[in-house]
Amino acid sequence: MKKILFLIGISLILSPLAMHTKVWKQKAREKTETKKIPIVYHQKYDVSFFGIEKLHPFDSCKYSKIHKALTRLGIHPGQFYKPQEVTRSDLESVHTARYLDSLNDSTTVARIAEIYPLKFIPNWLLQRYLLRPMRLATGGTIRATELALDNGWAINLSGGYHHAETDHGGGFCFYGDIQLAAKKILDNHPDWKVLIIDLDAHQGNGHEEGCKDDDRIKTFDMYRKNYPHGRNQKHITYPVVFESEWHLGPRVPSDTEYLNKLKEKLPEIIKNEQPNFIIYNAGTDIYKEDPLGRMDISEDAIIERDDYVFEQAKQHDIPITMVLSGGYTSASARIIAHSIECLLRKRNIIH
Ligand SMILES: [Zn+2]
Repeated sequence: MKKILFLIGISLILSPLAMHTKVWKQKAREKTETKKIPIVYHQKYDVSFFGIEKLHPFDSCKYSKIHKALTRLGIHPGQFYKPQEVTRSDLESVHTARYLDSLNDSTTVARIAEIYPLKFIPNWLLQRYLLRPMRLATGGTIRATELALDNGWAINLSGGYHHAETDHGGGFCFYGDIQLAAKKILDNHPDWKVLIIDLDAHQGNGHEEGCKDDDRIKTFDMYRKNYPHGRNQKHITYPVVFESEWHLGPRVPSDTEYLNKLKEKLPEIIKNEQPNFIIYNAGTDIYKEDPLGRMDISEDAIIERDDYVFEQAKQHDIPITMVLSGGYTSASARIIAHSIECLLRKRNIIH
């Protein structure tokens, strides 16, 4: 009898303790799940409707693939930041109203997307399934710049539409998210300098044209001579051009040449310009199998490139926002996810 009373007594003491431990564990788990990381993503970033997107080599679902890969590493979906769609008035600060209105015409949209059958699709469908994802992604780049100011770094899992000019879109780029983000930073910090580092395989004619009259914005653009064929090239502050004898000639440059050039130029540019903010256009179409980039860079070198740019920003205490830009192989999502994984491991966000 004494034994039974003893056991009842023990269980009465232990059960609130066990309950308390359970609640504490639950709260700790919720805290980890909701602890935000400065990565911006929206489930509607992907462009997908009726299979028509397959007419372009761009893997328009790469964004959700990267997101999925990151969640597999243990990042809870609630830890990502969700962007707002960019407003018309924000867009008008970097584009003409005439250009924005021209996107209500399916033929114009088809030309910019380089998917010519799109001209037969009603414009409201294009707005919903093509242009809205681009507006969300543009809002994502703005959100990522705000987050970088608080965290030192941030990534938008889309964006980098560097061919969109003030009065002209092209190369699958409708909205100039990079120049818009730069402009917003400078509206809030008029004495600052912004450095755009564009390491996509193609030249960033959009932000180069859009920022040409603002002396506070400098551009460092390393690209292979290719599309957009030198358009606005004269506005690049620091150009590095890799040339092949002809457009579809041998892939250039090699990993070593590419990384050496980056490591030679970037510290010098940061020293010269002393920027207060970096927008990093991290196109992965420099990959050696990319059909459009025509460069010869390995996955390891891309990861090293991203790490190097982030380390330079950290060393000089400059906030950095990364956007994804081009990348046209089925491997693009995997490469980007690996690169972000390395950045997160280095910052002890994942272990
Ligand atoms: Zn590109």
